[in-house]
Amino acid sequence: MIRDVDIKDIWDGRFYAEEDMAPVGCDDCRGCSDCCRMTGDSIVLDPLDLYHLTCGTGKTFTGMIEKEIEIRLVDGMILPNIMEHDENDPSRADGCPFLDKNGRCSIHEFRPGFCRLFPLGRYYRDEDRSFRYFVQKGECTKGGSTPVRVRDWIGVSREEIRQYESFINTWHFFLKDVSARLPLLTDRSRDQVTRYILQVFFVEPYRKDLDFYSQFEGRMRKAKKALAPLLPGR
Ligand code: SF4
Ligand code: SF4
Repeated sequence: MIRDVDIKDIWDGRFYAEEDMAPVGCDDCRGCSDCCRMTGDSIVLDPLDLYHLTCGTGKTFTGMIEKEIEIRLVDGMILPNIMEHDENDPSRADGCPFLDKNGRCSIHEFRPGFCRLFPLGRYYRDEDRSFRYFVQKGECTKGGSTPVRVRDWIGVSREEIRQYESFINTWHFFLKDVSARLPLLTDRSRDQVTRYILQVFFVEPYRKDLDFYSQFEGRMRKAKKALAPLLPGR
């Protein structure tokens, strides 16, 4: 999700690369689950999240709809997010549906990228289509400040980090390019494009026995070909 804010309002003054140490450590969130409650629709999922969630839980995208995830309009696109439980439903704990009764994440190993990143954010640069990490000021209520390597914080191995960051960048700028073109389309075409992207990158099941990145690249090639008239020159 693109946040239209002045970065100086939420920034600690430094950018970090994947091997840099960032002041984010918070004693393994011991005794705190603040950012797993009142999540609203903020935990927007990307295709890698869907791959992790479906492989990790054994559920399909459609099997999770209206139970753990929902779909909403984000920057003109139809994208899935983790749905927050209704605080008035006494049969459920409030907050994220993956939060267990001890206040811990029940899917820690395959939690979404948004959760892995927090309280880090990503600042995307249009000039060279790249991004840097930054620490969001005052977001961790425990005041995390122990230095941790960014790559370790987000839980991506040294072997995987290049592919991971390439995927993050490709997905971000693909959505941005499509979003920019949507206002030029008729309502019908806009609906077709956004539903097509949802179908290709989220609804069609990913194969657990195959590497995510090669599956994503195949789908991206297919989508760019199908959407070529919409995205000239990309
Ligand atoms: S607010 Fe900080 S300590 Fe609490 S759950 Fe979130 S990251 Fe962990
Ligand atoms: S998926 Fe896990 S880490 Fe993310 S909000 Fe839910 S319980 Fe918290």
